[in-house]
Amino acid sequence: MLHQNEMLLLKLGEVVLKGLNRRSFEDKLVSNTRRRLRHCGDFQIYVRQSTIYVEPRGDQCDMEAAFAACRQIFGVAAVARAVPCEKTVEAIAGTARAYLAPAFAAASSFKVESRRADKAYPMTSIQISQAVGGLLAEAFPAVAVDVHDPDLTVYVEIREHAAYVHAPSVPGAGGLPVGMGGRAVSLLSGGLDSPVSSWMMARRGVELEMVHFVSPPYTSQQALDKVLELARLLTAWTGRVIVHIIPFTHIQEEIRRSCPEEYFTLIMRRFMMRLSQAVAQRSHAGALITGESLGQVASQTMLALGVTEDVAALPVLRPLIGMDKVEIIRMAREIGTYDTSILPYEDCCTVFTPRHPCTRPKVEDVREAEAALDVEALVAEALAGETWVRIKPTDAPRI
Ligand code: ATP
Ligand code: MG
Repeated sequence: MLHQNEMLLLKLGEVVLKGLNRRSFEDKLVSNTRRRLRHCGDFQIYVRQSTIYVEPRGDQCDMEAAFAACRQIFGVAAVARAVPCEKTVEAIAGTARAYLAPAFAAASSFKVESRRADKAYPMTSIQISQAVGGLLAEAFPAVAVDVHDPDLTVYVEIREHAAYVHAPSVPGAGGLPVGMGGRAVSLLSGGLDSPVSSWMMARRGVELEMVHFVSPPYTSQQALDKVLELARLLTAWTGRVIVHIIPFTHIQEEIRRSCPEEYFTLIMRRFMMRLSQAVAQRSHAGALITGESLGQVASQTMLALGVTEDVAALPVLRPLIGMDKVEIIRMAREIGTYDTSILPYEDCCTVFTPRHPCTRPKVEDVREAEAALDVEALVAEALAGETWVRIKPTDAPRI
């Protein structure tokens, strides 16, 4: 459906319904939309009456790319492609006739549905629908009017400055605009779970910074590239992110040397919490996010989660806690991270796995086992070795 004046209408999500802080929701969504569409061309983007208007300036805009990008912006409930026209019945019908000709060719029945945001308009919604529907029925005699179950619904909106004609809208990403929900540090591994947990919190409006732990030479450059690629895939939804890369080898070797094997994983996870928290404090982030799901592995029993959380002062958000693996996999497919997640590269977690991990650990016992280590020095050393990468949606694939 190529059309000269084609534009996009983004319907706002749930804050409108809740009547929360609507103004800042709208401002944030407009600025996020501007940033995310920058690579698709020059657009005029503004908000009126709970709708964001995305209008191309000139003919250099990639409308297909813009449409796809808008469907990945959190806070947008629905996206419609539309064409503006004069606010007369003739202009509206003429526009619908030209713009929706392919849709009419494929339909055997239609109806017109109108909305009037301009309450001063001299016709009611029903009158507009009847008049426009009458003209369209004449133009497309093979397509019957069916107000109950039509193949095609033509939407007409009468707004302040123009009328808009569009076909049915498609669902947007939902949720809240990124940045409305504060900032959090997400622990990103190469697995299936943490990309999904990151996505879920971003959808609640949380701006993410990622932390990834590497254990060279036990983990490879390819394993790191895989994680950076997962982060890149997530930027289609979140906008650009920073990934902090923290060396973890020495900590793991020290744990293996000095601590009982059954606590390896738990002590390792406590270090992950401490290090992530240090990053969070520096970045003024208010929470940590993990991809843990209750009972999935030995370190994710309720008692084990308690032992891990023992060292965290910030809230630890675990959006997957009550989800089944099948559901997580379905989401990974939907958000586009599945194929990369299943690439078979090692993670530092799988390097030193105990043969018989303790599934009913006591905090005091783990603390005592950990006392064999100079925790502060190991944390400081790992942080001193930290590097970071900024990843943008327009970056080339890494894998
Ligand atoms: P995932 O599928 O996300 O890898 P998992 O089921 O394999 O999770 P674990 O390996 O026990 O579970 O890790 C639990 C959580 O700890 C992960 O979801 C992730 O948030 C974090 N995590 C694990 N390994 C790393 C790592 N190398 N760097 C950063 N975070 C990690
Ligand atoms: Mg993992």
